Amino acid sequence: MSRRKIVAGNWKQNGSKVFLENFMSAIKEVEDVDVVISPPFPYLEKASALSAKLGTVSVSAQNASLYSDGAFTGEVSVEMLKEVGVEFVIVGHSERRELFGESDLVVADKVSKVLASGLTPILCVGETLEQREADETIAVCSRQISSVLDVVGVDTFENVVVAYEPVWAIGTGKSATSKEAQEVHAAIRALLSDSLVGLGDKVSVLYGGSVKANNAIELFSQEDIDGALVGGASLKIEEFNEIIKAAG
Ligand code: PGA
Repeated sequence: MSRRKIVAGNWKQNGSKVFLENFMSAIKEVEDVDVVISPPFPYLEKASALSAKLGTVSVSAQNASLYSDGAFTGEVSVEMLKEVGVEFVIVGHSERRELFGESDLVVADKVSKVLASGLTPILCVGETLEQREADETIAVCSRQISSVLDVVGVDTFENVVVAYEPVWAIGTGKSATSKEAQEVHAAIRALLSDSLVGLGDKVSVLYGGSVKANNAIELFSQEDIDGALVGGASLKIEEFNEIIKAAG
């Protein structure tokens, strides 16, 4: 793959069938921007059907099981996601890492599972406030990416989308400044451009964390920011359309 502009909306545990219908019919496409929406599991099939009809967006799951079908109560396999038309899976969101104990290794194995099924993982990385204050931001993001690279290998990592999401910026209304974000994106790009990896121009790196209509243009103007993973503002269709427009 090569770098492309992507605006993805992570609905988290929000939404309803009616909300989905209204939302899908109101999304405005912009040339050269891939739009992805990520509703909760029960709405994925309907979202895919609407997307096939309207041809506007791709559909992402917010998580996937490490395992294929079997005795794993409460889990949803990548095969099932694929069957209902899902194309992307968010993996390693900080809420999964923090609230559901997903380690770097689990995240790496999930990315591997998603890739093996032919779906595209959106791999989330990012530091906590304590880690930023301890000047560990780049080290943390590098570790989170390297642990995936180690498991999936360089050739396959080409099909990963990375989302840099500083944990302190998620849902707080306090986005990283464009300069802070660009610094980390450049470091991630440098890691991916390393001579042994060689993926700098191939992997899209999105920013996430309080992206709104009023900061999207500034964030997207940065050299190494290819788009956004949007939480709260992806539930407001007009604002989400503004963010899509800003990426164009
Ligand atoms: P936010 O969430 O835009 O509400 O900060 C981003 C995310 O969690 O992906």
